[in-house]
Amino acid sequence: MKFHTSSLNDVTAGLKSSPHGISGAEAALRIGQYGRNELLEKKKTPPWLLFLLQFKDFMILILAIAAILAIFLGDITDSIIILVILLVNATVGFILEFRAGKSMEALRKMTTITTQVIRDGKISTLSSVELVPGDKVILEAGNVVPADIRLSEAKALRIDESSLTGESHPIDKSIEPLKDPELSPGDQLNMAFKGTLITNGRGEGFVVATGMNTELGKIAGMLDEKEPFTPLQQRLNKFGKKLSFIILAICALIVILGLLRGEDAFHLILLSISLAVAAIPESLPALITVALAGGSVRLARKKALVKKLPAVETLGSVTYICSDKTGTLTQNKMRVVNEFAVEELPSLGEWPFLHAAMALNQDVVAKKENSLTGESTEIALVEAMLLAHSFEEFESLQSTFQRVGELPFDSERKCMSTVHSYPDNKFLLITKGASESIHHTLNNEAVKEQLKTMSEDWATSGIRVLAYAYKVLDQKPEIKEADDLEKDMHFAGLVGMVDPARIEVKKAIEECKAAGITIVMITGDHPATAEYIAREIGIMDESGLLLTGAELAELSDDGFLAQVERTLVYARVSPAQKLRIIRALQSREHFVAMTGDGVNDAPSLKAANIGIAMGINGTDVSKEAAHLILLDDNFATIVKAVKEGRRIFDNIRKFVKYVLTCNSAELLTILVAPILGMPIPLLPIQILWINLVTDGLPALALAREKAEVGSMKRPPFPASESLFSRGAGIHIVWVGMLMAGVTLATQAWALHEGTAHWQTMVFTVLSLSQLGHVLAIRSNTTFLFKQGLLSNKALIAAVLLTFFLQMGVVYLPFMNTLFKTQALPVFDLGICLVLSLVVFHAVEFEKWIKIRFFPQLAH
Ligand code: ATP
Repeated sequence: MKFHTSSLNDVTAGLKSSPHGISGAEAALRIGQYGRNELLEKKKTPPWLLFLLQFKDFMILILAIAAILAIFLGDITDSIIILVILLVNATVGFILEFRAGKSMEALRKMTTITTQVIRDGKISTLSSVELVPGDKVILEAGNVVPADIRLSEAKALRIDESSLTGESHPIDKSIEPLKDPELSPGDQLNMAFKGTLITNGRGEGFVVATGMNTELGKIAGMLDEKEPFTPLQQRLNKFGKKLSFIILAICALIVILGLLRGEDAFHLILLSISLAVAAIPESLPALITVALAGGSVRLARKKALVKKLPAVETLGSVTYICSDKTGTLTQNKMRVVNEFAVEELPSLGEWPFLHAAMALNQDVVAKKENSLTGESTEIALVEAMLLAHSFEEFESLQSTFQRVGELPFDSERKCMSTVHSYPDNKFLLITKGASESIHHTLNNEAVKEQLKTMSEDWATSGIRVLAYAYKVLDQKPEIKEADDLEKDMHFAGLVGMVDPARIEVKKAIEECKAAGITIVMITGDHPATAEYIAREIGIMDESGLLLTGAELAELSDDGFLAQVERTLVYARVSPAQKLRIIRALQSREHFVAMTGDGVNDAPSLKAANIGIAMGINGTDVSKEAAHLILLDDNFATIVKAVKEGRRIFDNIRKFVKYVLTCNSAELLTILVAPILGMPIPLLPIQILWINLVTDGLPALALAREKAEVGSMKRPPFPASESLFSRGAGIHIVWVGMLMAGVTLATQAWALHEGTAHWQTMVFTVLSLSQLGHVLAIRSNTTFLFKQGLLSNKALIAAVLLTFFLQMGVVYLPFMNTLFKTQALPVFDLGICLVLSLVVFHAVEFEKWIKIRFFPQLAH
């Protein structure tokens, strides 16, 4: 059946629905028949493949092959241990990746879109995946169309179908049946298609297709939900590739030097491959994913839902937060505090005109006196009106003066109009909105002046002002252009309301200032109201500027650029101007977070470095475009998220520093020993053991480190900053050299003493030095004794476990056979322990020097 050519009667009959939709019971049957209304995801990597993929690394494959070859050469125990270590390694990698994938999936599910459906004759809000063909749904500006829908009602309904048809202008929708059965979706004006965005108006309609049967399902094929690499991972991958060449060259050098010394070729090759596996940091990008996914889970607990993983890594770099006022900085709990009605207004029955206007010109869904849903401004108006009139009177007024037309609220125009039937076959037009918007609808200069002075007066004391105008029309107006309709009107009065600032916001703003982040308020409200609140919560200061949308429109790009960094409040701006603000800040090298809730905010949310949508009051469209969703709409949550972002980035830097330092120490030890005329200090299995146990577990636990004490008292790091800046690169080199030096010194001493267990000592010192290192780099700014051992329990557990495992390898007889170690006498173990502490103390000393002499590096 072609729905766009059918009449509405045929549509409901064809769908076995009714003008009031279907029943809940019928829907339950249909969902079994048609399936859930979702696009299928591309097949996820099955767990077994994810496990196998752990071996995809070239060097690991080579090592596995070498180990298998070694079995045939008679090296059975060694080979089996190598294979077991590789398996354990793969299993750990697999578990981490699998868990990270699962938590990202769970977070993704938290952003499901809901739809208003009429079932059993009642309106209810359901998750869009539960829709079935035949359902009757309500569509509003800001919604993403949840399924393919044949429209039965369209009031100024305009839909952006660019995602489906490529047409960039929103399409005006209608409900009349069309003639041509072969029309393409873009021309089917009485249909709304899944995934398109409602930019204006409202409508109703019947679901005709769901899930993969929709037009979007047909063209989209399968969704690929795989997370791409984040910028940091990409950079690290590139760096890793270059590093691999250096490591492979060093390994080749070790083989050549060994051959020259007449050592066994196969053993040398196995050793160098093991070393390459240990030293090439192939696991770092995966570790970053784990850290970011873990961070996203923590952020979700703090009410910030991450939609795009790279946002977690760059959150800490935000230098500007541009925030909406209403609801984000304020509580969105409006209360009417002032009313002013013009004298000699027409009467509407028993009602004073202004109250009647408040009762009629609004879109609140009012079931009972205390059950009002809708926009907070409007709820406040209805609540104030209900203080003077009963709910029954309110309902009877609405039925007497029925609404016959409307121009919905639009944040560009900042006003809305409704048309009502009026005695003597006339019609009443009521317009309410920002005082400037009402100003130019009025017909009397003196009244205009009165409106202006009064509303400015109210706004200066922080009051949000709404003005009302009206006119009586002889004929029902054609509602097309706002300017044709909203003119020659009479002033009716003003209503003033307050919306208190959120209590926690002031402190959050102070915290931002200390952290080098500038907060900017962007609002559609009056400049005086905006400035009052901006001062109250600490955004506006003596040197800060306020710009209005009109002033901004007048400024040239250069003129605006000259003052963008001093402008702290933007008032009466339209959503489209937000984009200009972001671009200007970005061209001044700022990293901008921007909040938005409306349909028109989508472009700026996309353009911002971190686009933040509102979970409670935001539209679906803004949520689709954002990188982050605030589940509680609260500004303070952004600040918590930034702090978390800084913690995650710091910890990534720490484990990258840790792993690379350990690897460089291992490489140097093996390379330099023969050059100094000593035997190769470690066996392949010992190297792999160090790589698996000492490197892996503590690195992972470093991601759990708490935020640095001063993390919100320093300026942000640029998002493009290298992981090796701020002394990290130098640290890797010098601590790597020190660690290798201590290990080699142990070897030299033990050989000099003629002890048979010199190798076990070298093995132990290298292993334990790394544990000392991890304890010291837990913080960049606090010494371990101050920080306390227990502030990161995971890390202490990892260190203890690793220590006891190492002792097991040294003291358990069967481990001695497997790892070719010998039990150390107490004195020698003591020497190993003391030597292992050298690196710990050296790194703590490095911290002291940085704090003392280079505080800018001590982060
Ligand atoms: P924010 O601070 O988040 O930008 P805002 O509520 O101040 O939010 P808008 O919602 O764009 O910004 O509103 C701008 C102006 O439009 C308000 O100051 C008010 O004068 C007017 N306005 C707001 N809601 C309505 C409404 N429902 N009907 C008519 N006018 C409204």
